Amino acid sequence: MERYAGKSILKGTAIGKVLFYSKEEQVVLRKSVEDVQAELERFEKAKNEAVVQLNALYEKALKEVGEVNAAIFEVHAMMVEDGDFNDSIKNMIESQAVNAEYAVAATGDNFAKMFAEMDDDYFRARSADIKDIAERIVRILHGGHSSGDLGDEPVILAAKDLAPSETVQMDKSKLLGFVTELGSSNSHTAILARTMNIPALIGISVSEDMNGKMAIIDGVSGELILDPDEDVLKQYQQRQEDEKKSRELLQQLKGKPAVTLDGKEIKLFANIGSVGDMAKVLANDAGGIGLFRSEFLYLEKDDYPTEEEQFQAYKTVAETMAGKKVVIRTLDIGADKQVDYFNMDKEDNPAMGYRAIRICLDRPEIFRTQLRAIIRASAYGNIAVMYPMIISVDEVLQIKKIVASIKADFDEKGIPYGDFEQGVMIETPAAVMISDLLAKEVDFFSLGTNDLTQYTLAIDRQNAKLDNIYDAHHPAILRMIQMVIDNGHKENCWVGICGELGADLTMTEKFLKMGIDELSVSPAAVLPVKKIIRETDLKSE
Ligand code: PEP
Ligand code: MG
Repeated sequence: MERYAGKSILKGTAIGKVLFYSKEEQVVLRKSVEDVQAELERFEKAKNEAVVQLNALYEKALKEVGEVNAAIFEVHAMMVEDGDFNDSIKNMIESQAVNAEYAVAATGDNFAKMFAEMDDDYFRARSADIKDIAERIVRILHGGHSSGDLGDEPVILAAKDLAPSETVQMDKSKLLGFVTELGSSNSHTAILARTMNIPALIGISVSEDMNGKMAIIDGVSGELILDPDEDVLKQYQQRQEDEKKSRELLQQLKGKPAVTLDGKEIKLFANIGSVGDMAKVLANDAGGIGLFRSEFLYLEKDDYPTEEEQFQAYKTVAETMAGKKVVIRTLDIGADKQVDYFNMDKEDNPAMGYRAIRICLDRPEIFRTQLRAIIRASAYGNIAVMYPMIISVDEVLQIKKIVASIKADFDEKGIPYGDFEQGVMIETPAAVMISDLLAKEVDFFSLGTNDLTQYTLAIDRQNAKLDNIYDAHHPAILRMIQMVIDNGHKENCWVGICGELGADLTMTEKFLKMGIDELSVSPAAVLPVKKIIRETDLKSE
């Protein structure tokens, strides 16, 4: 049994086998082997596993993205079985007595080169596919996996680091938990883990040796326990049972209003990143969606999502919430959320760089497409739209002008839309300091305390080294929150918190006493926060 100390980003216990995920370039060494027959068998086994993985990916893609997009996995599965490809690999193992990894990688390179030099566009395009399947087989031979295909059994994923785009592509039903070496508790990958309600640890030094071993994630102490002995395993199984029971107790709050003892109704909403998160929102009885991080629609794809695709996603969420408020935040990419097809320059300081509303106002064709989709969806529910990273009144005026022109266009064409509120995220110190002016222009404020803390304390939220001094309870932040609530209320704006601080149960009573109107938290945090709201008396000191 081994214990590794890390930092927890979601309290909870996970027990299961580790799957080591390596995305680093695979180094393939040429090694001589004595038992050629055994090496041929290793190759056969890995090849069959590749076919199984590809077929599973095909089925998953078929359900999620349709036949046309799924077809690539079918093609890959056929290529793995291709006679010439197989003959070349086997021949190399036999004639040169080399390891299977080397034979696969070398054959992959040769075939890729051959395809790349063909005249026909179709065959040239197959060059990348051949490389891809060779890498898949080598990865299997190395005992590693790629993030998307987690295999059949649910696992604890161990990785050096996970980007938000990788996390979002995972099959969540196969993920018991994850541990990473890098990352910070306020990164978007950590936020995704909370949304998915998946126990996760950061700061654990992971290695390939962990692959296949039994492990426990202790989300309270922040430890990973590898190869637990019988007693320890039993103890944690018991803890999992207890956690289940307390979750069941919270279930009794479902259907009850989020109202304080003295009668103030609080908007208790949930944060989501995709339509797929809606099941958790309903299961936890959220009173609305306070933050739909729409950028995940862009991160999931290889190209800009169309107006129609976005409209369908927003409409589905609005209809599912059946009249409850759905706050859609417009695109907030940049910083740790990079999207290749945006072709953005590499920046030294991306958190303070070209991101969010700055990109949208600079590339209005992208912004208009999204706003049109949101405004069209407003005909199907209670939608509100929210703008991220605001630093000036002028930005809000520019946005309102674009919104007005889209409405005028819809009026002319008879395209229906509903009434929708417009609000801004207060996540820069500048927005806090001019919140009296911003309040005159919008219907609501939502405090993005993740970024607000980063910019106010000058602490990069991605920097794992500074995680212990990233203090969202800092008096500067609490004073800012009070200022925003007061300035908002003077102009009849409702004020909420959608950053991770909103789910901090030690702060709930304080926020309510400060006058907060809304708390938007990960779906799993809705019922625990509701419990505290219902136990709070705003009239008591
Ligand atoms: C925030 O900054 O607090 C926020 C909610 O936005 P994000 O975490 O997506 O940057
Ligand atoms: Mg933010």
